[in-house]
Amino acid sequence: MATKLLLTFSICRLIVTVGLTLDPSELVLLGVDGQLSVDPTDVETASLDFGRLTRATPPLAVLHPASAQDISQLIKAAYRSDFGFTVSARGHGHSISGQAQPQTENGVVVQMSGSRRGSGRKPPQPRVWPRERYVDVWGGELWIDVLRSSLEYGLAPKSWTDYLYLSVGGTLSNAGISGQAFNHGPQISNVHELDVVTGIGELLTCSEEQNSELFHAVLGGLGQFGIITRARISLEPAPQRVRWIRVLYSNFSAFTRDQVYLISLHAEPGSQKFDYVEGFVIVDEGLINNWRSSFFSPSNPVKISSLKSNGGVLYCLEITKNYHESTASTIDKEVESLLKKLDFIPATVFTTDLLYVDFLDRVHKAELKLRSKGLWEVPHPWLNLLVPRSKIADFEKGVFKGILGNKTSGPILIYPMNRDKWDHRSSAVTPDEDVFYLVALLRSALDNGEEIHSLEYLTNQNREILRFCDDARINVKQYLPHYATHEEWMNHFGNKWDWFYQMKMKFDPSHILASGQQIFTPTFPSSLKMVAS
Ligand code: FAD
Repeated sequence: MATKLLLTFSICRLIVTVGLTLDPSELVLLGVDGQLSVDPTDVETASLDFGRLTRATPPLAVLHPASAQDISQLIKAAYRSDFGFTVSARGHGHSISGQAQPQTENGVVVQMSGSRRGSGRKPPQPRVWPRERYVDVWGGELWIDVLRSSLEYGLAPKSWTDYLYLSVGGTLSNAGISGQAFNHGPQISNVHELDVVTGIGELLTCSEEQNSELFHAVLGGLGQFGIITRARISLEPAPQRVRWIRVLYSNFSAFTRDQVYLISLHAEPGSQKFDYVEGFVIVDEGLINNWRSSFFSPSNPVKISSLKSNGGVLYCLEITKNYHESTASTIDKEVESLLKKLDFIPATVFTTDLLYVDFLDRVHKAELKLRSKGLWEVPHPWLNLLVPRSKIADFEKGVFKGILGNKTSGPILIYPMNRDKWDHRSSAVTPDEDVFYLVALLRSALDNGEEIHSLEYLTNQNREILRFCDDARINVKQYLPHYATHEEWMNHFGNKWDWFYQMKMKFDPSHILASGQQIFTPTFPSSLKMVAS
């Protein structure tokens, strides 16, 4: 009863906010099986994201859907309503710049992850098809739970993100990349089929064969064309264990040469290549810089500080080899023969061996450590760039050594990927070269009185990095992009823009969905009250 009253109050606020007449029964009578909530905690959560850079105008309500039909009903109501309201899917809210928040005063958030709480109908649990080697999952499912369900059948997805507490719909709306992408492609290259509720409220199944335009548009589509309610994800037999190796370089060109060589082996049989290739820059050893690399323990025989030359920077190549206990006897030899071909600093081989699931879930341990020190819920002015291989040395000189001056306030990941593993028909954009790098500046702003850790300082540095790339004609593409102007978005999509726009007009003609990306402005009357960004 209290909830109903609150909801009615919220809907009245909706009418006052937009100054237009809405029949309150429009939302009350939606009759969803899930929960349409105006609980202050839900509303507050939906106004924040991991980036903590902006606090959005609170949404009018948060839908915890029980099914795709609930979402379809909500979007149909938004599309048909005389006054209009926007709908934003929120996965786990791990965006940086408000991408999962409504940018209008009259937005409703669909909380896709964690919607199995409370009583009543709930979204479906993962369903594994062992013979076909795929799993059907709810769009808000977290990858950690996809992994757990698949492992019950001895199977696992092939392509990952470094961190598993992200939603399937959220990463598929971007790309989903990690050290396996050179081999299997990003997560968007490992999907067989999707169920999607479009911006007119239609629930469509799409794949390469069926509604293929929608399928390709949604993958990497930044939530612009529909809400993913089910994804059918490709599986492989799960390895049992992982040999995890790190080696150090002081020479950047030797480091990148070896990385590119390793990813060129993608077509080789398993025994002749690594399964995962990443890398990162080591500037200093504090927790805030190295939370992604808890691997180096004080008991390690090599003192990193004793190796520092080159202005105090080292580059760490991180590689793994998966194996099954039945092949444990050959793993040492395979690793040794691969390492022999690399040009790292001798005697800097750090090795550990662990369960596959522990390797995949490694960043969660770092999260717990940061949380315990109050360093997780801080602003994260992250900048993720895809840099063409031909310019990575210029980038290193201008950014790592130049703008950053070999100082950082968070981990810097750097690893290459093969473009031929990305489907050019998807909405995701990459640099126009066969090999490109992810450079991820994963920095945290700290309120500790030091200017170089402040949010303002780091944000200005990000701008400077983007300006430097422009001036030096390094044609980077932002990963998890964030732009303020229409022109920048057109530039980002390049020759995909016209198609992207056509798909938007076809599947979300009123621009109801994912307004937090700030690509399109809603076209209904109440959108005149768009919140200034
Ligand atoms: P949200 O932030 O909730 O949403 C992101 C966008 O997707 C929004 O526009 C939203 O509207 C839309 N969306 C969400 N769900 C759906 C859906 N079901 N259907 C349609 N649209 C939807 N990324 C990588 O690729 N590799 C990594 O290794 C990696 N590591 C990370 C580690 C950490 C600690 C963090 C915080 C992020 C990391 N990311 C990584 C980034 C991550 O992929 C993005 O934040 C992504 O948006 C997923 O987060 P989310 O599920 O919380 O989505």
